[in-house]
Amino acid sequence: MGRFEHGADLLQALEELVEKEGIKAGALSLIGAVQEARVAFFDQASKEYKTIEFPASMEILSCIGNISLKDGKPFAHVHIVLGDKEGRVWGGHLLPGTKIFAAEFVIEELEGVHLEREYDAMTSLSLWQK
Ligand code: ZN
Repeated sequence: MGRFEHGADLLQALEELVEKEGIKAGALSLIGAVQEARVAFFDQASKEYKTIEFPASMEILSCIGNISLKDGKPFAHVHIVLGDKEGRVWGGHLLPGTKIFAAEFVIEELEGVHLEREYDAMTSLSLWQK
């Protein structure tokens, strides 16, 4: 458990922590607020990620993800739900460019789990092998 620095990039902070702690498998959850956010929506028809930018302060109502291996290295897959000043909810797949106002995280390391991501032709996504 811990808190990330004000002004840091959220995804980068998560990736650096996972790498520093050598976490190869795990679950993460985080709450707090952002100064601005950048997320993606995966368009299933075109099989491309569409970037969505929120240039405003928002609450991190829920941010969850998992950690597994991709190309032999720890990889964090993270989704975020953001709330605006009217209480409306937005969100998506977390991208670099999301600036922390405050962020409290919990990461649970899962020992004995070995999940590796590989390209999946059906979805064009990098998914866990069965
Ligand atoms: Zn995703």
